[in-house]
Amino acid sequence: MRRKPLIGITPSFNPHSEKFLLDIEYVKAIQKAGGVPLIIPYADLKNNIDLILEKFDGIMLTGGGDILPFYYKEEPKKTKRVVPERDELEIELVKKCFKNKKPLFAICRGCQVMNVAMGGSLIQDINSEIEHDQSAYYDKLTHTIIIEKGTLLYEIFKKREIKVNSFHHQAVKKLGKDLKVSAKAKDGIIEGIESEKHPFFLGVQFHPELLFEKHKIFFKLFKAFVDGCR
Ligand code: MN
Repeated sequence: MRRKPLIGITPSFNPHSEKFLLDIEYVKAIQKAGGVPLIIPYADLKNNIDLILEKFDGIMLTGGGDILPFYYKEEPKKTKRVVPERDELEIELVKKCFKNKKPLFAICRGCQVMNVAMGGSLIQDINSEIEHDQSAYYDKLTHTIIIEKGTLLYEIFKKREIKVNSFHHQAVKKLGKDLKVSAKAKDGIIEGIESEKHPFFLGVQFHPELLFEKHKIFFKLFKAFVDGCR
């Protein structure tokens, strides 16, 4: 029997307590989809990215603080909880996953890292322009997204419209190279990005790991990702 796909997951980091942090829901979702999750710490691993990547069948980038705007050639305006070490590792992981056609599934902050790594930029604070963040409990679906036909995201959901949760104050501004938009909220905020030049290179701005147990449709994302890693 073929071994289960090994999925590398990036955690958050709290510089004050000097602890790595990861919501267990990410781990549960990958396990339920048939993958074996392993956490990748960031400790000056930039020069060992190839060694790390060859061990994994796929990479999942998780939510967290903001990316240093330096990476998209802007000065910080409303950035919060920046961990430059994390930016550095994740940006390299995205670039290498794209180059080596290694499956990548990027959630929330991950979607933003994916875009920046591919040369795109971010809206630094959506909420100074429109109300987009939700105050409702994490597993409540608060806004609609419109999914483009002919995208990987559409293939997974097989729906033009779904409702999602929303816990982000930043979003894709200028789209990175070789990426396309696969979903948008009705207010125009980009909620999904992917690449046609890669078999599974997908970013979503919502948090499916907080939804998949209650709303079965979101499990399809993890299933498609882990299957794509086989
Ligand atoms: Mn949203």
